[in-house]
Amino acid sequence: MAYDPDNIFARILRGELPSTRVYEDDETLAFMDIMPRVPGHVLVIPKTPCRNLLDASAAQLAACMATTQKLSHAVMKAFGAGGVTVQQFNETIGGQEVFHLHFHVLPRREGDRLLP
Ligand code: 5GP
Repeated sequence: MAYDPDNIFARILRGELPSTRVYEDDETLAFMDIMPRVPGHVLVIPKTPCRNLLDASAAQLAACMATTQKLSHAVMKAFGAGGVTVQQFNETIGGQEVFHLHFHVLPRREGDRLLP
């Protein structure tokens, strides 16, 4: 499927829409999810166009994974979490709503519940 350059995350990358940025490097950006499913829910995206896992390059995946690992440590520390859940969805049938590759980083605490 084609990449839509006007998807919400592409617009966040261009600064056309506001977001709470928490980390950025040459290849990736991390920002807070607007509807957090647990406190500290962060999204990690590549800066280059990519619809989802199905069309990602090895370089995009490597960069996103490195940032996802970095942010996992950071949100665990910041939110007093004992672990982290990483989620990623592909195409509508796979649960994807925004069509720019992203990884959900969800810090987990004892007794918490992931909102749907
Ligand atoms: P998915 O495509 O993996 O199902 O989820 C998309 C995620 O993007 C959701 O968790 C949703 O809350 C988040 N989201 C949608 N629109 C915005 C937005 O404008 N800003 C931010 N920060 N997150 C968004």
